[in-house]
Amino acid sequence: MKITILTIFPEMFEGPLSASILKRAREQGLLTFETVNFRDYALSKHKNVDDIPFGGGAGMLLKPEPIFAALEAVRGPKEAYGGKVILMSPQGAPFTQQTAARLAREQELIFICGHYEGFDERIRTLADEEISIGDYVLTGGELPAMVVIDSLCRLIPGVLGEAASHEADSFSDGLLEHPHYTRPREFRGMEVPEVLLSGNHEEIRRWRRKEALRRTWLRRRELLEAADLSREDQKFLEEICREEGI
Ligand code: SAM
Repeated sequence: MKITILTIFPEMFEGPLSASILKRAREQGLLTFETVNFRDYALSKHKNVDDIPFGGGAGMLLKPEPIFAALEAVRGPKEAYGGKVILMSPQGAPFTQQTAARLAREQELIFICGHYEGFDERIRTLADEEISIGDYVLTGGELPAMVVIDSLCRLIPGVLGEAASHEADSFSDGLLEHPHYTRPREFRGMEVPEVLLSGNHEEIRRWRRKEALRRTWLRRRELLEAADLSREDQKFLEEICREEGI
C-alpha cells in the first residue's frame, strides 16, 4: 500500500512510521509512506497556508489553494486515482476497527491533516471520507492520521508476520478480547487459570470465548447488542450473569 500524507508538520511522522512493525513492513516493501508539506504549494511570497475567517472569529483557517495544489500534484486527475482521499476531522465519521479493515484493502490512500482552527469548508470537497478518531479535539490532524494509519497497516496481510494475528483482537468480532497470560505460572500469588495449562484446545477455546463475553459484558455491554452471538455464546452469557450475580 502507498500512503501519502499532506501536512505542514511532516517531521511529526518520522518516529511513528520508522519504528517497530511499520518500519519492518516498509523494509519488506509492504508499505510506502510519503509526507508532502503543502506549505511548499503556497502561492504567497511568505508561503502562508492560513488566513483569518470571513465573518470574524478567533483562530486561523487553512486556505484552500495550497491543499488543492498539493493534492492535485500527488494524486493527479481525480478520475485516474484508484485510492481514497481522507480528511482528518473531529466532525468526521467515528473511526472503528471495521473502518480500518475496509481501508486496509485499498492500494493507495492520501491523508489530509488540518491544523489551527480548522480548514476552509471548500477543502471538504477533496475528500472521499472524513474520519474522526473520537469526540475530542486535537491541535492538528497529524496524530489522528497516525492513529488511523497504524491501525489499518497492521491489518494488511503480511504486516504482522506469522507470529502475530489480529483476528482475535478486540472489536474484530464485535467483542473485547479475552485475557492473556504468559510465564511465570504463578506471580506474587496470582495464578494462571488452570485450563490454559491443560493442553485441551477445545476447553481453551471455550474458556477464551466465555471470558471475551464476560469482559465485554462487564466493560462495554453495548457492543453485545450488535455482536453476532451463537447459541453457545447465549449459554455462556447466562452462566456469566449467574456467576457475576447479575
Ligand atoms: N474547529 C474545529 C472543529 O471544531 O471542528 C477543530 C479544529 S482542530 C483544532 C484542527 C485540526 O485537527 C482539524 O482540522 C483536524 O484535521 C484535526 N483534528 C482535531 N481533532 C480531531 C479528531 N478528533 N479526529 C480527527 N482529526 C482531528
